Amino acid sequence: MNSDKLSNRLGTVADYVPGDARMADIGSDHAYLPCYLVKTKGIPFAVAGEVAEGPFRSAQRNVAAEGLTKIISVRLGDGLEVIEPGEVDCITIAGMGGALITSILETGKEKLDSVTRLVLQPNISAETIRKWLLENHWELMEEEILEEDGKIYEVLVAERGDGLRPYRQNKELGLLMGPYLRKNPSNAFRKKWTAEISNWQRILEQLGKAVQTPETIEKQKELAYKIQLVKEELKDENA
Ligand code: SAM
Repeated sequence: MNSDKLSNRLGTVADYVPGDARMADIGSDHAYLPCYLVKTKGIPFAVAGEVAEGPFRSAQRNVAAEGLTKIISVRLGDGLEVIEPGEVDCITIAGMGGALITSILETGKEKLDSVTRLVLQPNISAETIRKWLLENHWELMEEEILEEDGKIYEVLVAERGDGLRPYRQNKELGLLMGPYLRKNPSNAFRKKWTAEISNWQRILEQLGKAVQTPETIEKQKELAYKIQLVKEELKDENA
């Protein structure tokens, strides 16, 4: 991967950034995404934010090598602290867990006033992000799921609006599996949830062998419920 040829995962994130966006890519690492967006879509301004020194330097090097230092500002800092209020209207956060993405959004909430679109790509726990979006009046507009190099990724696109609208049909399953992904289940979707069921079953078995405490009993009930719920969902869409 480089800034001319992104991975499918990052390319999918790029697809959802509007061509006129002033964007910030948080956790940018090599800054391939903002470089690609300037070169292919002509976006007018980007911040590449990085909390770690090594990736920050690599982003600086790549942006300079592409001759894009006037358009892409590479900044060292934690989460949304690298952006000034009102500076960007689109934020991408990709390649991290859902809990970390959610905590970055929650901690930097006051920087989101001018932001109209979020493009988020969690490696795990997309459900945590969907819940945060719903509670914070961001409406999930689109979702994608894709498989690359044996891993499955989700991309969530949100805009300000009625956070509850996508979940009218079934909030619990929508939050867990994705309201749009459920409607058009792809092979990657089926693969992800089949693997998740096996994983939950394995944990359930281990918990069954452990000393039974109120917590382990509660956890077993919770897992058994989720296994049933997702199995039903997969069965229904096969019907
Ligand atoms: N976004 C790129 C991608 O999707 O290919 C890089 C993903 S890389 C796995 C995650 C990057 O996020 C790392 O470079 C890490 O240093 C950075 N990161 C983690 N927590 C961060 C935070 N709180 N603020 C800014 N960057 C963060």
